[in-house]
Amino acid sequence: MSEELATALAEILRGRVVRPTDGDYDSLRALYNGMIDKRPLMIARCTDAADVIAAVNFGREKGLLIAVRGGGHNGPGLGSCDDGLLIDLSMMKGVHVDPSAREIRAEPGCTQGDVDHAAHAFGLATPAGIVSTTGIAGLTLGGGMGYLSRKHGLAIDNLIAADVVLADGSFVTASETEHADLFWALRGGGGNFGIVTSFLFRAHPVNTVYGGPIFWEARHAGAVMRAYRDFLQTAPREFSFFVGLKRVPSVDPFPKDFWSAKACAIIGCYNGPKEEGQAVLAPLLDALPEPIFNWVDQIPFPAMQSMFDPFFPKGLQWYWKGDFVTSLSEEAIDTHIAQAAKAPSELSLMHLYPINGAVNEVNEGAMAWNARQATWSMVIAGVDPDPANAPAVKQWAKDYWAAVHPFNAKGGYVNFMMDDEGEERVQASYGANYQRLAAIKAKYDPANLFRVNQNVRPGTSS
Ligand SMILES: Cc1cc2nc3c(=O)[nH]c(=O)nc-3n(C[C@H](O)[C@H](O)[C@H](O)COP(=O)(O)OP(=O)(O)OC[C@H]3O[C@@H](n4cnc5c(N)ncnc54)[C@H](O)[C@@H]3O)c2cc1C
Repeated sequence: MSEELATALAEILRGRVVRPTDGDYDSLRALYNGMIDKRPLMIARCTDAADVIAAVNFGREKGLLIAVRGGGHNGPGLGSCDDGLLIDLSMMKGVHVDPSAREIRAEPGCTQGDVDHAAHAFGLATPAGIVSTTGIAGLTLGGGMGYLSRKHGLAIDNLIAADVVLADGSFVTASETEHADLFWALRGGGGNFGIVTSFLFRAHPVNTVYGGPIFWEARHAGAVMRAYRDFLQTAPREFSFFVGLKRVPSVDPFPKDFWSAKACAIIGCYNGPKEEGQAVLAPLLDALPEPIFNWVDQIPFPAMQSMFDPFFPKGLQWYWKGDFVTSLSEEAIDTHIAQAAKAPSELSLMHLYPINGAVNEVNEGAMAWNARQATWSMVIAGVDPDPANAPAVKQWAKDYWAAVHPFNAKGGYVNFMMDDEGEERVQASYGANYQRLAAIKAKYDPANLFRVNQNVRPGTSS
């Protein structure tokens, strides 16, 4: 039966249909998070929007569960499914940069690295995340934050338009002037409303930045977190360093005496010239003890964006928990430090990404993503290469989150959530915007065809 279905789909698709009997099925279905293993009935490797339309119509007419994959980086593996049709967009990698209009058009199979690479040649960039292998599609649809966010906002704040294949197979462009309700929902509502086949982003002049990591011994964590917290309040928006509790990697060129040592770090960049960055950072660094190392220097922006890549290859065991954080009290800092000290593996970490500044200036009702009061987006990630350690990293992340959540907002960033947090958490993440999202879902996807995501159920507006 599934073989017949796959043959029928192959007849109408320009791209390949991959079946479980194919030699590359296992490598093509593999997800970034090695903790998640899903076996789709078939994988439709789409080459263009026409393929996406054909695959959506086919899946709907045959009553198949549909999953959609951009970069496949999603924590709970929402870029795939068991026993359904996986619409794989990873071959759709076109990027077109228009330097005079300062716009970037990117297809949904692009990673962040693909977009950064293309735009950097023109001295441009658009806000996205901090690991270059992350898919631009899932990242943008969930919000998209990174080193440019304090200055230029989220990925969705820079989205001008999106081409979308809807659940009924029709194709529309969504923007402020066309299907404005859909455009509102796409900006933070995830993959709930259709399959985006092209993103149009606003770009900004970004070339080299003054960036890198600074690590202190764990005994200084309280001092670093407090000084960083206070500094951030008045720091210029070009300053985009996050604070993290983690360990020193056990690999060259990190100082051998500190391999695997627990540490507190600030990592990020000043988006401007080195001299300016040095002057901005000086008061923060002068107030703190000597770090283990300070490797902040002038580097090309794409190098900053891919700095973490070697530490986080595909296939590690991951368990994430996230929250939005408005303020960091003394008690919260102490709780973070106590929980981080129990990390069961070298790669496990807590990061607080700053999103104050431009992100806060957008009205809470302007688009689906509404955490506009937050100062940071927090992630706690239990990570380890060994599947035997999966239960330990998972439990650590859960316990850590339970201890600090009372200090944080109710909802979290949907892109930093697993799929076991329940509908209430998804609703809390959208807050007052949830009801409107549910009504737009009912308009564009009443049968909930696109449900392998942080799902918004079709609802009414009242
Ligand atoms: C190592 C790592 C670092 C990260 N760093 C950051 C960061 O700095 N900033 C940040 O904001 N986030 C970050 N994230 C989170 C990231 O945004 C999410 O994991 C996101 O889901 C990844 O998108 P993807 O396209 O790779 O995922 P996928 O697994 O392919 O898809 C994720 C979800 O989006 C849907 N989807 C994908 N493409 C489309 C499309 N074209 N149309 C409709 N729906 C679609 C999928 O169905 C699925 O529900 C990071 C994740 C990892 C693993």
